[in-house]
Amino acid sequence: AKARQGCTWYLYNERVNRSASSLADLEGELRRALRRDDLELHYQPRLCMETGRIVGLEALVRWRHASRGLLAPNEFIPMAEESGLIVPLGYWVISRALRDMQSLREKGAGELHMAVNLSFRQFQDSQLLATLQRLIEERGVDPHWLEFELTETAVMRRSDQVSGTMSALAKLGVRFSLDDFGTGFSSFVHLSRLPISLLKIDKSFVDGVTAGGDNGLVQAMISLAHELGLEVVAEGVEQAAQLKLLEGFGANQVQGYLISKPLPLAELEKYLSQQNKA
Ligand code: C2E
Ligand code: CA
Ligand code: CA
Ligand code: CA
Repeated sequence: AKARQGCTWYLYNERVNRSASSLADLEGELRRALRRDDLELHYQPRLCMETGRIVGLEALVRWRHASRGLLAPNEFIPMAEESGLIVPLGYWVISRALRDMQSLREKGAGELHMAVNLSFRQFQDSQLLATLQRLIEERGVDPHWLEFELTETAVMRRSDQVSGTMSALAKLGVRFSLDDFGTGFSSFVHLSRLPISLLKIDKSFVDGVTAGGDNGLVQAMISLAHELGLEVVAEGVEQAAQLKLLEGFGANQVQGYLISKPLPLAELEKYLSQQNKA
């Protein structure tokens, strides 16, 4: 029993040490991954209800880790936000998304909006606006096709830095969407002062949309958004019945596994050419 206790203690201690060091390791590894281009973007299509066509894409980052395989953003974005690595990582994401936008266009993939997620932490970089302007110019992308997704919690910080940068980008033609809507506590007075064009209803609400279910809340969100002059994107749509209901409620766009999972660029190109044939 003694030996076992000792053994347990030893294992426990090992594990604590390992988890403490593995966070620091992970940070160093992410730093290296950024340098070595071990990150990837996958693109999830957005379907327009009115036309039945793909009108946009959301860029979602993944990390191709040498030993752990493909890591989802929830495995490293929180650490990147905490460590500040989200700033260079965010530039990598935007730069890659702009590059892929150009290559899609060259291949005749049509006119698609590209949505990129921005963390609140990225606004704390005083160079954000200047860097975004430079990247957009360098890639020669028309800013009207670019969209940034900001979560409710980021937008509600009421920081002058956030609203100032948003306004400057909006003047260039960049659009903003309010991500994960319904999960935070938006003040509509505050929202109406920001240049937001779209509202993305969080999957947790979309999950509850069922025939014969209580869909009042989602319907109210959609009406409210339209009242405020915003377009509505429903995210996380997995079932055909949800799509039908959301269409009836007036949602403008849908995104979710029912339409397509996020796809690597090459697969996205195939997907889009199939769509265009149909
Ligand atoms: P999000 O912005 O809410 O993105 C939607 C997430 O839902 C994505 O997860 C997407 O793959 C997933 N999803 C879409 N449709 C469905 C569906 O029908 N069913 C289910 N079960 N899931 C669906 P993912 O790619 O793992 O991204 C997670 C989060 O990580 C994103 O949530 C976003 O907040 C963050 N993220 C991803 N890429 C970036 C980035 O480049 N920068 C920043 N700052 N955050 C990012
Ligand atoms: Ca998003
Ligand atoms: Ca979202
Ligand atoms: Ca979400």
